Amino acid sequence: MPVHRHADPSYDVVIVGARAAGAATAHLLARSGLRVLLVDRGRYGTDTLSTHALMRGGVLQLSRWGLLEKIIAAGTPPVRRATFRYADAVVPVIIKPSYGVDALYAPRRTVLDPILVDAAAASGADVRFGIAVADVDRDRRGAVTGVVGRTRYGQAFRARARIVVGADGIRSTIAERAGAPFERIGTSAAAVTYGYWSGLQTDGYEWNFRPDAASGVIPTNDGQACVFASASPRRIGRGGLAPLTQIVAESSADLAGRLAAAVPPRALRTFTGRPGHMRRSWGPGWALVGDAGYFKDPLGAHGLTDALRDAELLARGIIAVVDGADERDALACFQMTRDALSTALFDVMDVIAGHRWTDEQIPSLLLQLNTAMADEVQALAALPPLPPPSDQRRSPADRGGHSKCVWSGTGAVASRQG
Ligand SMILES: Cc1cc2nc3c(=O)[nH]c(=O)nc-3n(C[C@H](O)[C@H](O)[C@H](O)COP(=O)(O)OP(=O)(O)OC[C@H]3O[C@@H](n4cnc5c(N)ncnc54)[C@H](O)[C@@H]3O)c2cc1C
Repeated sequence: MPVHRHADPSYDVVIVGARAAGAATAHLLARSGLRVLLVDRGRYGTDTLSTHALMRGGVLQLSRWGLLEKIIAAGTPPVRRATFRYADAVVPVIIKPSYGVDALYAPRRTVLDPILVDAAAASGADVRFGIAVADVDRDRRGAVTGVVGRTRYGQAFRARARIVVGADGIRSTIAERAGAPFERIGTSAAAVTYGYWSGLQTDGYEWNFRPDAASGVIPTNDGQACVFASASPRRIGRGGLAPLTQIVAESSADLAGRLAAAVPPRALRTFTGRPGHMRRSWGPGWALVGDAGYFKDPLGAHGLTDALRDAELLARGIIAVVDGADERDALACFQMTRDALSTALFDVMDVIAGHRWTDEQIPSLLLQLNTAMADEVQALAALPPLPPPSDQRRSPADRGGHSKCVWSGTGAVASRQG
C-alpha cells in the first residue's frame, strides 16, 4: 500500500531504540518540551544480552534525573563495596559517598529499561514498541529527515523529524543507513558467559583478573547475583556452566568455593565477543547515542554508564539545535565531549579485553580505568542541572541546552545556556 508522506507524523526528534541510551535521551528531550517519538522493534520490559553493573557516573545520572529512587524502590540492592582480586592480592574498595551518590546499583535490564521508558512516556514522549526501522528518509541535499520501517503486523511506518537519533545498539541500522563511518575499531574482543545464582554469599561487586581468566559477581534484584566469566572467545566457546566454573576456579578460589554452595542457574547467556568501536556520531539531521556510536568490551562494565552519560550530552546538543543553534556546532560538541571522556577508557579496555597483560601489569591497567571513570564523574557533576520536568513547552532559555562547547582543563564539559 502506498504511504502518503503528508500524513506522516512529524516530531522534533525520532529516537530508534528504547533501552538505556534511547529511552534516557527521549526522557530528557521530552521533559524539556520537545516533541519526541521513541520506537523499538522489541517488546516493553524484556531482558537483553547484558550484565548490568552501573558505575558511579551511571548512578549519578539516574540520581540527577530523579530516577534512582525508582531503581531502589524496585528492590535493587545497594552495593557499598567492591573487591578486586589479581595475582595474590585482594583489594577491597569501599564505595565512598560523593556527589550525592552513596552506593552503586546493578538493576536488571528488566528493571532499568522500563523505568527509563516509563519516564520518557511520563514526560510526554510518544513511545511505540513493535516498530522495526529499516531506513532513513533524506531531503534533496541528503540531510536525514525521518525514518521508514514496518510495524510488528507488517504495516508500513514512516515518521518525520528535525533530528533522527540512532540508539539502536551495536549493529545500528541508523548508523549504517546514515553512513556513519567507524573512526576507531578495537584490536581485541573477549567473550563473556554469565548467569544468575541464588543464595550466593557476597558483599558487593567482585572483579577477579588472571591472564585469560576474568570473573566477577554483580549483586542484583530478587536476591540473585549475576556471576560472569570473561576470557578469549576460544576459551569461552559456546559458554555455559563448564567454562564459567573453570574460569572462576582459576581466577578466584574463594569465589569458586562460595559458588559451589549456591544454587546455580538453569541456563547461562553468552556473548561471543566483538571489538570495540567509535563511530562518527552525527551528520545532517542525525546522531548516534549508546552502543550505536561507541562500544567497548563488556568486562569494564561501563556501557550503561556511558549510555546514560551520552544521553544527556546529546540531549543538551539537540535542545540547542531546536532552539536555533548551528546543528553542526552543537552535534560536533556532543561527539567531541563524548570522545574526550571515552578515549582513555576505550584504550585501556582494549588492552584488558585482549588479555595482553600479566599479573604484574593488571594493577596499573585497573588504575588507568579508575582514573578515566573519575574524570567522567567529575565532568557529569559539573553539568548544570536540567530544568524540572514539565508538560509545558518552555522558552529556549529554560531548557538547559548549550550554545557553545566549553571546556575546563580536566576535560570536563560545561554548558552555557542558549
Ligand atoms: C555480555 C555483556 C555484558 C555487559 N555488561 C555490562 C555491565 O555490567 N555494565 C554496563 O554498564 N554495561 C554492560 N554491557 C554493555 C551494555 O549492555 C550496553 O552498553 C548497553 O546495552 C547499551 O545500551 P543501548 O541503549 O545503546 O543499546 P541496546 O541496549 O543494545 O538497545 C538497543 C535497542 O534498539 C532496538 N533496535 C535495534 N535495531 C532496531 C531497529 N532497526 N528498529 C527499531 N529498534 C531497533 C533493540 O530492539 C534494542 O532494544 C554489557 C554488554 C554485554 C554484551
